[in-house]
Amino acid sequence: MNIEDLNKQIRQCHKCRLSETRKNAICGEGNLNAKIMLIAQAPGENEDREGKMFIGPSGKVLDELLKLSGIDRNDLYMTNLVKCMLPKYRKPKQDEIDVCSSYLDKEIELINPEVLVPLGRYATDYIFEKYSLPIPSKQEFHLIYGKLFWANNVKIMPLQHPAAALYNPGIKDEMVKSYHKLKILSNNCKWFPTCPMRRFYERGKLDRRWIELYCKGDWESCIRYQMEERGEFHPDWMLPDGSLDKRLIG
Ligand code: SF4
Repeated sequence: MNIEDLNKQIRQCHKCRLSETRKNAICGEGNLNAKIMLIAQAPGENEDREGKMFIGPSGKVLDELLKLSGIDRNDLYMTNLVKCMLPKYRKPKQDEIDVCSSYLDKEIELINPEVLVPLGRYATDYIFEKYSLPIPSKQEFHLIYGKLFWANNVKIMPLQHPAAALYNPGIKDEMVKSYHKLKILSNNCKWFPTCPMRRFYERGKLDRRWIELYCKGDWESCIRYQMEERGEFHPDWMLPDGSLDKRLIG
């Protein structure tokens, strides 16, 4: 199956009650070779009417956040956990997620992005469960936004859903900071070609996880990177989280 066949199935889907109240089932859209896939919760009224993703007020917030981060929307692939509008903006029901998420699973398989970016609680819960990551409690949920995870050979970085800024403008600054990570994830660390971590990894002494989480992931949070930028000495056996492991040079 290719993405066109999949999208045709999505447009014609009547597998759950949401098909009775929607105008359009919304397919994913964007760059088919994207490194980063954004996964929102479900289309809103504007998206349902126009048949496109992120064109309503949340779309405006998303465009602003991407612009501030220096990210071109055309470089991303964007999709939803649930493909049809939820009446009166209610939350998705578990049986709706259960039947609809097979489309998302197929999109992930076909696009095969390096980084999955679930937006908001429902998409994050689904992706964390799919990749066997522990789901944080409601109280601690906000702590995972903008953090990078590595599970089953996929990078996962949950971000706040853009709609959150519409209900709570006070969190906009925090959102700008976490969306900035999308830019970080677009490029490898500039020090990677000469970094000892690369050497240790290529010699089989360092787990791939370190490379994916830092060198090819959130290098801005690497302690080695930060010390390099400040011109401070750090030994070759210092790991990206700042811990020391002399076995690397043994
Ligand atoms: S270990 Fe840190 S400094 Fe070295 S390449 Fe990776 S991210 Fe950059």
